[in-house]
Amino acid sequence: MQARKEIRVSGVVQGVGFRPYVFRLATELDLSGTISNTSTGVTIEIQGPTELVDHFVLRLPREAPALARITGVAIREVPCKGDHTFRILASLTGDPVRTWISADIAICEDCLQELFDPADRRYLYPFINCTNCGPRFTIVRDIPYDRCRTSMDRFPMCGACRAEYEDIHNRRFHAQPNACWKCGPQLAWWDRQGHRIATSDPVREATEQLRKGEVVAVKGLGGFHLAADATNPSAVERLRQRKGRGEKPFAVMAADLKATLSLCDVDDDARIVLTSRQRPIVLLPKKKGAMLAEAVAPGQGDLGVLLPYTPLHHVLLAKGQFSALVMTSGNLSEEPIAIDNQEAVARLAGVADFFLVHDRDVLLRCDDSVVRSGRRGLQQLRRSRGYVPAPLELHHTLPAVLAVGGELKNTICLARGNLAFLSQHIGDLENVESFTFFLEAIEHLSSILEIEPKIIAYDLHPDYLSTKWALAQQNVRLVGIQHHHAHIASCMEENGVEGRVIGLALDGAGYGTDGTIWGGEALLADYSGFERAAQLAYVRMPGGSAAIREPWRMALSYLRHNFGAEFLEWEIPFIRRLNRKKAETILQMIDKGVNSPLTSSCGRLFDAVAAVTGLRQEVNYEAQAAMELEMLGRRATHTGAYPFDLRRTSTGWEIGTHALFLAMIEDLAGGEALETISRRFHSGLVAVLARLACFLREESGVNKVCLSGGVFQNTLLLEQLLGDLQAAEFTVFTHRQVPAGDGGLSLGQAVVAGRSVS
Ligand code: ZN
Ligand code: ZN
Ligand code: FE
Repeated sequence: MQARKEIRVSGVVQGVGFRPYVFRLATELDLSGTISNTSTGVTIEIQGPTELVDHFVLRLPREAPALARITGVAIREVPCKGDHTFRILASLTGDPVRTWISADIAICEDCLQELFDPADRRYLYPFINCTNCGPRFTIVRDIPYDRCRTSMDRFPMCGACRAEYEDIHNRRFHAQPNACWKCGPQLAWWDRQGHRIATSDPVREATEQLRKGEVVAVKGLGGFHLAADATNPSAVERLRQRKGRGEKPFAVMAADLKATLSLCDVDDDARIVLTSRQRPIVLLPKKKGAMLAEAVAPGQGDLGVLLPYTPLHHVLLAKGQFSALVMTSGNLSEEPIAIDNQEAVARLAGVADFFLVHDRDVLLRCDDSVVRSGRRGLQQLRRSRGYVPAPLELHHTLPAVLAVGGELKNTICLARGNLAFLSQHIGDLENVESFTFFLEAIEHLSSILEIEPKIIAYDLHPDYLSTKWALAQQNVRLVGIQHHHAHIASCMEENGVEGRVIGLALDGAGYGTDGTIWGGEALLADYSGFERAAQLAYVRMPGGSAAIREPWRMALSYLRHNFGAEFLEWEIPFIRRLNRKKAETILQMIDKGVNSPLTSSCGRLFDAVAAVTGLRQEVNYEAQAAMELEMLGRRATHTGAYPFDLRRTSTGWEIGTHALFLAMIEDLAGGEALETISRRFHSGLVAVLARLACFLREESGVNKVCLSGGVFQNTLLLEQLLGDLQAAEFTVFTHRQVPAGDGGLSLGQAVVAGRSVS
C-alpha cells in the first residue's frame, strides 16, 4: 500500500540544517517526495509504503538537528504522485509568516578544526561557518531565511563554495552565510580616522597593537567590541577613561577554558554555560591573584567571562597568544553598540586607536548576553545574543501584543498565540541613539515575525520614552501596566503559575498608582490585577535622581525619617565625615519635601545602608552600592540578623527600618566588621520578608510566592530568602530564562495586557 502525506512543520526549522536532515532521512528509507521552506516553516510531502511513511513521521521530530526547534507538526493525507526521488524545492514566499529565525550560534567544533588546519582551504578564514554554526539573527533582513534576504547577498559564492552549498551530503548544504577567502567577506585595518591601512594581514596588525597596549575596535557578530589586553593595566585604564565608564566592570574574553580556570572558579554548571553555543558572558567568582589588570573589574568579587564565539575571535586570541582580552560593547557609556563601520569610526574615534572591520553588514545590533550560573542553574541577567529571537512558550493563548518595556535595561516583547518573543537588550532609553534602536527593534521584530499588534502594553510612568511612544500610537488598544505588577506577572508566566500569588517585587524604581516611586512591595496579584499588600515605609529621595547617584543623601533621609535630629551627634564615621553645610541643605529639602519624592524602593534602602556603613557615598553605575554590599556580605560567616519593624496599617503591612538602623549604628560604633554588618542586614531583610509572607498567607490563604525585580539579582538575598520561604512551606517561583530586572518587564506587560482582552 502506497501512501503520500503532507507534513507541515513549524518552529525554528530554517537555517539549522533541517532540509538536508529530512533529505537524508527520506533517502535512507527510500521514500520519494519534496521539501520546501515556506513562510510557516517547512512543508514536506512524503510518499512510499504506508508503514515506511509512518516510520518517517515518527522519526522526523525525534532525530531533528540540535538547533531545530519544532513547535508544531500538521499532517494530512494527499493523493499519490509519480515522483521517484526526494527533492528539495526552492523556497515559497507569499504566505503569512509563522516561522522564526534562529539565534546567532558560536562556531562549531568541525569549523574550528578546519580554521586551524593549514591544509584546509579556509585556514584562518575569519568568517568560516556551516549549517551548524555562524550568524543568523544579526544578518537577516527578511524571511524566509535565504541568502538573498541576508547581508550575505552581496557575496556571490565561488565554485567551490557553491558546490558545497548544493551538495546534500556536505555540512554546508544550504548554509546561507557559506563563504571562503576567495568569495566571502574580508577584514580590513583602519586607523582612527577611518582610513584604510594597507596590510596583507589585518589580524596580525591588530594583535601587535593590542600587545602594545592600544585599544582596538573589533567588528563582531552583533556589533563592535572595544578590545584591550586584559593583563595590561595601562591599556585597560586608558579604555576605561576614554569610554567614560567609571568603575563599572568590563567583561573579558578568555582564550579557552584553561585560561578561564586561571582567572575564576568554574564549576561543572558554569563550564557547560561557558561552552554552550550561545556563549554568554558568565559571572564567575574571581580567583585571588588572577593575572588580570585591577581596572578590569575594580572592587568586584565576580568577573564576567566569555569564550570566543566567532572564528575571528579565535584567530585573534590564538595569533596574539592572549590569555584574556577585555571585550566590551563598542559604545560610549549607555549608548547602544555600534554596528556600522562608518558609524563606529564616528562614534568610537575618541576611544579606539585602530579599527578591525569587515564588509559583512550587521543588520541588527545585539549585545552579548550576561548570565549567572548558580546552584539553581542558569539565571539570565541580560538575555540577548545567542538567545534572541528564540521564543518563550506561553501558558495561555494571546492576541497580537506589543509590550514596550520600561526605561532602563529596556527590552520589548511581541507575543501572539502561545509564543512570546523577547527582544535583545536595547538599553537605557535616555538618549536619542537608544530610542532609535528601540524603534528599529520594534520595526524589525514585528516584520520578521509578522506580528501586527492590536494591543500595546506600556509602563505607567508618564515620563518614560517608551510610554510616550506607546501613547502616541493609533488604531491599537493601549493598556498601561503598573511596573511591579508587570515584574510579578513576568515571573508567574515564566513559571506557568495560575491563580493568585504573593508577589515580592523589589527593585530600584517603578511608578506607583499613587504617583510615588515604589520598589519594596508585596503584591497579592494575579494576571488580571493586584492589591498592594505591603510596602517599605516611604522615605524622601532628596534631589530625586541625584539621590540615586549619591547614596549618602538616602542615608540622611533614612536617618532623619527614623531619628529626627538626634543622629547628628552620633559617633560613627558617616556622621563625622559629613559635610555639615551640604547635609543641612539636604535635610531641609527632606523636611520641606522640596524636589524630594516619596519612595518605598528597596534599592534605595541598600544605598542608604551602604552609605551609613561608610562603604560608598556616591555611585557611578546602577546598583553599584548594592553589589558591593552583597559582595561584603558573602564573605561573612552567618552571624545573626538585624531587626526590622513590621506593622499593620489601615492600608496594609508596612516594613519600617527604625530598629534596623539602631542596631546597625550600634555595631558601627562598636567597630564591627563591615562584612558582618552587611550580612546582618541581608539576613534581617530576608527574615522580615519571610515573616511578612507568613502573615499574608494567613490573611489570604495564598501559598505561592513569586520573587521578581532587579534586587533579586543579589544572589545572597535570593538564595537565603528562597531557603527560608521553602522552609516555611511556601511554593516559591523565581526567574531563570527571563531577567528578574527590568529586562524582563516587557514579558509581564505583554501577558497582563494580552490576557485582559482574551
Ligand atoms: Zn560550523
Ligand atoms: Zn568561496
Ligand atoms: Fe523594575
